Order: sequence, then C-alpha cells, then structure tokens
Amino acid sequence: MRILGIETSCDETGIAIYDSEQGLLADALYSQVDMHARYGGVIPELASRDHVRKALPMIRELMQSHDIDKSTIDGIAYTAGPGLIGALLVGAALGRSLAMAWQVPAIGVHHMEGHLLAPMLEANPPTFPFVALLVSGGHTQLVSVKGIGEYRLLGESLDDAAGEAFDKVAKMLGLSYPGGPRVAALAEQGTPGRFVFPRPMTNRPGLDFSFSGLKTFVRNTLQDLSDANELTDQAKADVALAFEEAVVQTLVIKCRRALQESGMRSLIIAGGVSANLRLRAGLGDMVKKHRAELFYAQPRFCTDNGAMIAYAGCQRLKAGQQEALTIQAKARWNMESLPPCQPSSFG
Ligand code: ATP
Ligand code: MG
Ligand code: FE
Repeated sequence: MRILGIETSCDETGIAIYDSEQGLLADALYSQVDMHARYGGVIPELASRDHVRKALPMIRELMQSHDIDKSTIDGIAYTAGPGLIGALLVGAALGRSLAMAWQVPAIGVHHMEGHLLAPMLEANPPTFPFVALLVSGGHTQLVSVKGIGEYRLLGESLDDAAGEAFDKVAKMLGLSYPGGPRVAALAEQGTPGRFVFPRPMTNRPGLDFSFSGLKTFVRNTLQDLSDANELTDQAKADVALAFEEAVVQTLVIKCRRALQESGMRSLIIAGGVSANLRLRAGLGDMVKKHRAELFYAQPRFCTDNGAMIAYAGCQRLKAGQQEALTIQAKARWNMESLPPCQPSSFG
C-alpha cells in the first residue's frame, strides 16, 4: 500500500510517500522558519498562507522527481491535529480533495502519533510494548504504548514543554528561533559544573514534569551575571550547559521511573527535542544500566516531517480505517481517545 503524507500543523510543510512494501520512497520539507524569525515566533495566519503557497507544488515536484504516478497512490494521510487550526485546515482540505480526485481513501493523522511512530522508519525499529517520551515544541509526555492507538498517558508537563523551555531560554541568551539546536551548540562551549540548576519535580513520586521554574532560574542567573557585569560569552555558554543538563537529567530520571514502574524494556523518544545529543547520551547510559533498549528516529524525522504522517496513516489505512468525506481538523486532540489500529496481543 502506497500513501502520500501531508504535514502542515505548524510552520513546516512536510510531504512524503511511504510504501508498506518498499519503505519510504520520497520526502520533502519546507520550513517557514526564516519568515517567522523576525517576529520571534510563529504567526498563525502567515503560516497558513505559506502552506497554501507551498504544499501542492511540493507534492507535484516530489512525485515528478521520483517518477511516482498518481495512479500508484493508494491513500492519503494528512495531519488532522493537534496544531494551529488554520495551518491544519490547509493540509486537511488539500489531502481530502486529492483523495476525492484520485478516488482513494484519506485519513486524518494525530500529529503526536506521527512523532511517536517516527522511530519505526529506522532500520532497527522498536517492537511493542514500549514507553514513549514525547518531547517537542508543544508536548512533554510519557506514554505507555501497547500497540498503535493503544496509548495511556503516564505523565506530562504541567506548564512549558521541554522544547518550549529550550526556545524561551534561547531567547534570553539572545539566540534565534527555534532555539533548541542553538542552545545545544552553545552548551558545547560551557564549563561543566560552573552552574547547577534544579531538576524540577524529581524528588517526589510521579511522572509529571514542570519546566517553567527552571526557565525562571535561568532568567535570574542571567540577571545576576549581568548586574555583576559578568555576562560574558563564556558565562552564557556555562548557563546554556547547566540548563541543558538540568532538562536532560530531569527527563532521564522520569524515564527511568517509567521503565521501572511499567516493567517495560524499551524506551522510544520522539519529537524535536529527541534530536538532542546530550539527551540521547544520557538516556543511552540509563537504559544500559537497566538492561533496556533506547530507540529514536534520525534527526530530520524527530522534528516535524511528512514521513511520520505517511507512515502512521499507512498503518491505519492498512487496518481498514479511513475518514468519511469530511475535512478533519482539531486544534486540540487527546491521543488517548484514538482507536486501536488492530487488536493487539497485549490486551
Ligand atoms: P508539537 O509536535 O508538540 O506540536 P512542534 O511540532 O513545534 O510541537 P517539533 O517540531 O517536534 O515541535 O520540535 C520542535 C522543537 O524541538 C523546538 O522547540 C526546538 O527548539 C526543539 N529542538 C529541535 N532540535 C533540538 C535539539 N537538538 N535540542 C533541543 N531541542 C531541540
Ligand atoms: Mg516547527
Ligand atoms: Fe511536532
């Protein structure tokens, strides 16, 4: 089964073609980041308009350049939520319309299910059941995953998402959006141990997170340095490192707890922050000690992309699920409400 995937939930237009027999055949990504950069964040209306401008030409170009004829497409998967409603509607309307024109089924995919399944695109994919840490710009969640669509939320951030905290700290450090990779690069120059920041909510039971206090801690430290006339480039790098280590350690502690409490032996990480090398290394050390295994997608499939949507949609269309002739788009959408993809042996 060959599926065209369309991702337009935020500021990236992602297009991909996934074939259940041959794997990922083609993918393309257009990021609007330069357009939004001057505003310091994503402007929803501009995002929608840019998806309108890019999505259809990208689909045409991708299919032409890979010699893929529309008659070989068996279904269309588009991101139906959660995300910016106007941006979602562009991909949803386009996906639904193409499906109607090509007389194939369409399915609206949950964006976080897309992220969660992205490690399945790799050569050594995880097998169910596993614990998933979703760490992106809008989400920080620990999820018990028994099969596709069999999700139970174990814990989540009570305030800022991990990626959001990276982006806000980047702003304080004078770095541009999206800040995660830039904070990580600056932290490379940091002096280990010069600053130690708190690991929020780790000294009490539970699997929830909170990152907004840590962000305030960073702001106060920068203010103190500035007041003392000591806010040098080196000091900024030292702060970036202390922040990154605090986030990573916090995530490691909670993932260890989730593995212990669930008895599961596989951990997958997904979403933009799962591209972070310090996080991958910290979790890699932790799972080794607990005889568990860690899985993640290649960096370009950690952040938003069309491949994860094509993959997730393909699994659901293969199981016989599809949308009626309606355009599905939801700004908010609870992942636990998704139907199971097929009966799993785990019950
Ligand atoms: P959501 O998926 O929750 O709707 P989103 O789609 O905006 O949010 P993603 O595209 O998955 O989020 O990820 C983007 C986020 O990942 C940004 O906050 C960015 O700063 C962060 N990020 C990307 N690379 C890194 C990195 N190497 N280290 C830390 N953070 C990173
Ligand atoms: Mg983005
Ligand atoms: Fe995302």
